[in-house]
Amino acid sequence: MDCDDCLERLYTFLDKELGPTERKEVAQHLADCGDCDDNFVFEERFLRVIRDCGTSDVAPTELRQRVLERLRRDTPPTTL
Ligand SMILES: [Zn+2]
Repeated sequence: MDCDDCLERLYTFLDKELGPTERKEVAQHLADCGDCDDNFVFEERFLRVIRDCGTSDVAPTELRQRVLERLRRDTPPTTL
């Protein structure tokens, strides 16, 4: 699995709708690939914020924008 494959499956993975084999492959790639792991962590947080807002349907673009801004503010500076 490469990064494109991983990103393609990221939302399905987050929705827990992947089969066991694909789940394993995505999880393995996330463990190996820092870039995809960053994306995964970000999207996971995004989905959690949406859920906390009580919005179960697809987020309107405006809401997504607002959440993204909030996430960026909340993200602590990288200490690498
Ligand atoms: Zn990757």
